[in-house]
Amino acid sequence: MKELASYASDPSRTRGRRHAEPAPENRSEFQRDRDRIVHSSAFRRLEYKTQVFVNHEGDLFRTRLTHSLEVAQIARTLARNLGLSEDLTEAISLAHDLGHTPFGHAGQDELNACMRAMAPEAGGFEHNLQSLRVVDELEERYAEFNGLNLCFETREGILKHCSAAHARQLGDVGERFLNRSQPSLEAQVANLADEIAYNNHDIDDGLRSGLITVEQLLEVSIFERHYAEVQRRYPGLAPRRATSETIRRMINSLIVDLTRTSLARIREHAPASADDVRRAPPLAGFSEPLRREADELKRFLFDNLYRHYRVLRMTAKARRIVKALFSTFLDDPRLLPPDYRREGFNEQARAIADYIAGMTDRYAIREHRRLFEMG
Ligand code: MG
Repeated sequence: MKELASYASDPSRTRGRRHAEPAPENRSEFQRDRDRIVHSSAFRRLEYKTQVFVNHEGDLFRTRLTHSLEVAQIARTLARNLGLSEDLTEAISLAHDLGHTPFGHAGQDELNACMRAMAPEAGGFEHNLQSLRVVDELEERYAEFNGLNLCFETREGILKHCSAAHARQLGDVGERFLNRSQPSLEAQVANLADEIAYNNHDIDDGLRSGLITVEQLLEVSIFERHYAEVQRRYPGLAPRRATSETIRRMINSLIVDLTRTSLARIREHAPASADDVRRAPPLAGFSEPLRREADELKRFLFDNLYRHYRVLRMTAKARRIVKALFSTFLDDPRLLPPDYRREGFNEQARAIADYIAGMTDRYAIREHRRLFEMG
C-alpha cells in the first residue's frame, strides 16, 4: 500500500465507533468496516435491486451490486492516485447504495411520497439517510450492538446529502450539513466515482437495451470525441466493441482529469490534515471543461434514457407496487411479518418503510402478489 498523504484519513486516528470496540488485530479499522459491509445482508440484496433496468429485464444489465463494485473500482484508483485511504474509499463506495429501495429511484420517490402523504409526522424517506440507517441500526449480525458499528469516517462518507431537519438529529455525521463543511477526500472521491460509474454504465446499458442509439449519443461531446478516435484508430471495428472501447476511454479520461484537477487543488489549499480538508472548499473535482461535458452527458441520459417511455412504464408500475404495499400495511399492520409491527403510528410507518426499502425487486413483486392475488 502506498503511504497515506498528510490530508488522508488515517485509520489509526479514526474518530471511532458509536459503540467502543477493541482495535482489530490483523487489519486496519477501515478494512474492518469494508469487510463488515461485504458480509452484511443488505449488501447481498443489492444483487437483486434495480439500477435503471428492473432486475429480471436482462442478465447483463447493471444491478445495484455491480454498480457498487464499479464505483469501488473507480474510487480505489482515484484514492491511490491521490494518496488517500483506499480501504475507506472502498468501504464508502460499497456501502453508498445500501439504503436503496427496490426499483431504483422510482421506488425511493414513491416511498418518500407515501411517507409524506400518509404519515406526515414520520419524517419522509431519503435513500442516503436509509443507507446510514442500515449500517447504524437495521443490520442484526453482532451480539453487542445493532447495525455494523462502523467508524465515523465511513458513516460520514455514506451520508452524501441530508436535509437540515435530519442533520440536527444525527449528531456528529450531521454537523457538516449545518456548518457547510466538506467530508473527507475519501468521501468526495467515492461520490465522484459514483457519478463516473453510472454515467458510463448507463450509456452501456442504454445501448444494449436499444433504448438509445450511437447516432443519438454522437450529439454528446465527450462520447463523440472518444468514439471518433476509436473509429479513426480501428476502422471497421464491430459496433459493440467500438462502444465498449469508447466507454472505457471516457472513464479513463474522467479519472485522469479528476486526478490532475484534484491534485492541483490540493496543492493550492495545502491541507495538512484530514480536518483541514473538511474546512477547505471541495478539493476533489473535474476541470471546468470536463465538468461541463459530464453535465451534458447527464442531461442526455435524463432526457433520452431515464425519461424513455419504456423506462417510464416500468417506473409507473414500480410506483404502484410500492404505494399499494405501503398503504395496505399502514391500513392494517397485522398483515406485516411480526418483526415489523410497532406500537406508535409514526414508528409503524417507519418500520414499514424499512421493510419495503429492504426488499429486492422480485421480493416486492411477490409480496404485492401475495397481498393482492388469490391462489
Ligand atoms: Mg450509486
